[in-house]
Amino acid sequence: MMQEIEKVLISEEALQKRIQELGMELARDYEGKTPVFVGVLKGVILFFGDMIRATPIRSQIDLMAVSSYGAGTESSGKIVLKKDVSLNLEGRHVIVLEDIIDTGLTLKFTVEHLKAMHPASLKICTLLDKPARRTVDISADYVGFTIPNEFVVGYGLDYNDYYRNLPFIGVLKPEVYEK
Ligand code: 5GP
Repeated sequence: MMQEIEKVLISEEALQKRIQELGMELARDYEGKTPVFVGVLKGVILFFGDMIRATPIRSQIDLMAVSSYGAGTESSGKIVLKKDVSLNLEGRHVIVLEDIIDTGLTLKFTVEHLKAMHPASLKICTLLDKPARRTVDISADYVGFTIPNEFVVGYGLDYNDYYRNLPFIGVLKPEVYEK
């Protein structure tokens, strides 16, 4: 698997350090509250696990899944809900955890879906932000890393569902896409 990686963009150490910082920031901002972390599958799984452990306050978790049609490195823009949350989010403080914001379409769909449940508040925390590619006006309240316009894999992020188990964020060699 490592032979297919062109470069490491964010090392495992840098990821873990930043997640500890974000966790402390969230713990301060949500002190005295019991937020619900809502993760958007599948890309968020590693970030989700590390983020909830890095935030030392009482919280609950839930998961939802959305998919944008189409394989490969470009999303089609048509978002479908694949799995809904199971908790009642009415009146709750919701923190949406996302792996990456690219065009922003997935996040816009997710936020609209969750806001319809009337949470007391809703904030967005994303590990990665690619602002260069944004087509809808949406931004996160907490950002791990702002990255250039490159297709990244690892730490939950995939290419055709592979590479999610890499502990770092990396860029694939171009020939991987050409196969
Ligand atoms: P958006 O709807 O913001 O365009 O895209 C969000 C989704 O597209 C992410 O949740 C992720 O699944 C996928 N995505 C966007 N950029 C990348 C990337 O650089 N690498 C990977 N592996 N997935 C990406």
